[in-house]
Amino acid sequence: MAKIKVEIDKEKCIGCGSCVALCPDYFAMEGDKAKVIKNDTADTSCVQEAESSCPVAAIETKAA
Ligand code: SF4
Repeated sequence: MAKIKVEIDKEKCIGCGSCVALCPDYFAMEGDKAKVIKNDTADTSCVQEAESSCPVAAIETKAA
């Protein structure tokens, strides 16, 4: 499986916590924004779920 790189656009993030709730191994809250805490992963299932659930489309994934 191809690896992906995960990024959060902090300008867009509204701090709803959805990505952290869905995928706590990869995302954490830092103040009122989310941050990526694990990256370059081949296990993308919850990352992609978090990406599609983000209300402001702040999560971006690309091939690492
Ligand atoms: S789901 Fe999107 S808006 Fe919500 S905390 Fe995560 S990155 Fe921010």
